[in-house]
Amino acid sequence: MGVELIEAWGSDRKVAQSARVSTLGLDNDREKIAGLVKALWRDGHYSPFESSGMTIAFDVPMFVRDQLVRHKSFSFSVKSLRYSEAAPKFFVPDPLRPLVQVGKALDYRREEGTALQRKITAAIIKSNAKQSWDSYQYMINLGICDEVARSVLPTSLFTQLWMTGSLRSWLHFLDQRDDPHAQFEIQEAAGGVRKILGENYPVTHDAWKATKGNS
Ligand SMILES: Cc1cc2nc3c(=O)[nH]c(=O)nc-3n(C[C@H](O)[C@H](O)[C@H](O)COP(=O)(O)OP(=O)(O)OC[C@H]3O[C@@H](n4cnc5c(N)ncnc54)[C@H](O)[C@@H]3O)c2cc1C
Repeated sequence: MGVELIEAWGSDRKVAQSARVSTLGLDNDREKIAGLVKALWRDGHYSPFESSGMTIAFDVPMFVRDQLVRHKSFSFSVKSLRYSEAAPKFFVPDPLRPLVQVGKALDYRREEGTALQRKITAAIIKSNAKQSWDSYQYMINLGICDEVARSVLPTSLFTQLWMTGSLRSWLHFLDQRDDPHAQFEIQEAAGGVRKILGENYPVTHDAWKATKGNS
């Protein structure tokens, strides 16, 4: 999954300053921030985390995009297949991606699967992608408009989008998607988001991690 920072604004310091406005007014430029930021997230004082945020670009299969856009507190800009042609890049499960689920629908664990399952799965996904792509290209070459031709493309096709939101939204996103219950591929994308967030807002990241209980 492609996950790339477009822009990050604000800082851990700004989160703390934003909170101190409520008690100290505008003259609140103290150095110590870690304890305050940690307490804010732990105790559910979320609004200071809305003063900073990030725009992140994703290059993901359409089935992952469909999950990303469920997060309504973000703003999105999504590649159009009405105004531009698709590129032939399709999802094929990574060799390390578990292929079998065991247990109930909302509470299952993933298992690796056999070499035969892996071989057949990759072959079917690739052949389905090729067939769809050939049909798409055939229609485009016939002069059929993009908005109709795209209907034959599978959800394994990669697409690109920008997702913009506050730290509060990104941390909520990580709660849900950097989690073993989430789709395997969106977990990968969420891992990329967590890394970017940790690099840009290390104190906020650690405050979130303390409540999430991740190692
Ligand atoms: C493991 C997993 C499985 C899922 N399975 C399914 C599924 O089978 N089918 C399906 O349809 N979806 C499914 N989803 C999507 C899920 O239901 C949410 O739509 C998605 O995760 C976005 O969460 P959210 O609404 O909390 O986030 P956001 O949309 O980013 O909203 C952030 C917060 O704003 C508030 N908020 C947002 N919208 C409203 C509103 N309309 N009313 C009141 N408060 C609001 C809530 O406090 C919310 O937590 C799944 C998600 C996960 C993580």
